[in-house]
Amino acid sequence: MAMRCISQMNPKKIRGRVFLVRVDLNIEEGGEKNAYRIEAILPTIVHLLRHKGKVVLLSHRGRPNPVREISNFKFQISKRDGKLSLQTFARILSGKLGTKVKFVPHFDFGKIEMQIEEARPKSIFLLENLRFIAGEEQDDSRFAAQLAALGDVFVNDAFAVSHRAHASVRAITKYIPSYAGLLMEKEVRNFDRITDNYRHPMSIIIGGAKISDKIGIIQHFLGKADYFLLGGGPANTFFEAQGLPIGDSLVDMKSTAFAKQCLRSKKIILPIDAERQNGKILDIGPKTVEQFAAVIKNSRTIIWNGPMGLFEKRGFEEGTRGVWNAVLMNKKAHTVVGGGETVSSISLIPGSKSLISKNVFLSTGGGAMLEYLSGKKLPGIEALQK
Ligand code: ADP
Ligand code: MG
Repeated sequence: MAMRCISQMNPKKIRGRVFLVRVDLNIEEGGEKNAYRIEAILPTIVHLLRHKGKVVLLSHRGRPNPVREISNFKFQISKRDGKLSLQTFARILSGKLGTKVKFVPHFDFGKIEMQIEEARPKSIFLLENLRFIAGEEQDDSRFAAQLAALGDVFVNDAFAVSHRAHASVRAITKYIPSYAGLLMEKEVRNFDRITDNYRHPMSIIIGGAKISDKIGIIQHFLGKADYFLLGGGPANTFFEAQGLPIGDSLVDMKSTAFAKQCLRSKKIILPIDAERQNGKILDIGPKTVEQFAAVIKNSRTIIWNGPMGLFEKRGFEEGTRGVWNAVLMNKKAHTVVGGGETVSSISLIPGSKSLISKNVFLSTGGGAMLEYLSGKKLPGIEALQK
């Protein structure tokens, strides 16, 4: 992977210039304060500020109803969408960076440009949720050009949205020099290492909600990996395919045909017991945890996306906790764990931060990680190629 990287830019060229940095602040309400995604974007910002650049942060949050046209640069957002404002992150980032992050609540580009120009080096701005504007998700050139005109250099540090061809991810790169940020570089380096020269046994742990997002990775690795450990919705979908009764359990009916095709593979390991409530399968059971842990212990490459159960609810977190324990205990494997909920479920392990050793990489990407590992080309990354 040969991307243009900000780490390779001469620091002298950072001084006084305006860097538009696409980050991923797509964090749900309530999870803002301790979000791993916030910690992850700090290094690039600190790097640019240290070398006296100006930083303008760009991000989206959630799926608001976008405004088609910006008239007089005023736009109305519904009360519901107001909750998707990025304003709260200006305060949180100010605290973490020890310097004021100025929030810009509008898209009056002329005004923003002036504000940035007048600001001193080392100033930092955060624009409002880009998805409030329809052009963002449409990869609209005009909107991208307006954004690009605000800065000198574009930096993509949002690996988690790189699989989206959106204005602030792809179209913007047509207008100003574009680089990968430090986080993006780290993510891609880790994934390349796992796909280029992985060691056996290789285990892929798949859980979470929708199996349809995860079919690609199962298909791609069916010939390469040694084990697929399935929990959550994906396991239920396989049970359904086997004709086992699963009641109202979370299942992806559209994927049962795919599951049937895979059933013959000896590599697919399904849970042997389950935690249920009213007939619903909500977690893998203790025997399964034991079995999965034994496989994880002997693995030399591990990819994990998707919690094993409804870990947010008490009584259904043991499966996910058990897998975390096994994953963190294995210091020999090259391990990547990704996905919003999967990564945040590490909070099930007390003192987890100190337990993560060098061999374990936590990715900010969920869908993007699965697509990248499945060998797909991600538009946001393609746009940064040398
Ligand atoms: P990630 O965000 O890590 O990519 P997903 O979005 O695919 O993962 O799925 C995460 C969600 O799946 C979690 O909120 C979890 O509670 C839920 N989940 C996992 N297993 C089950 C289950 N058996 N029943 C209901 N929900 C489940
Ligand atoms: Mg999720």
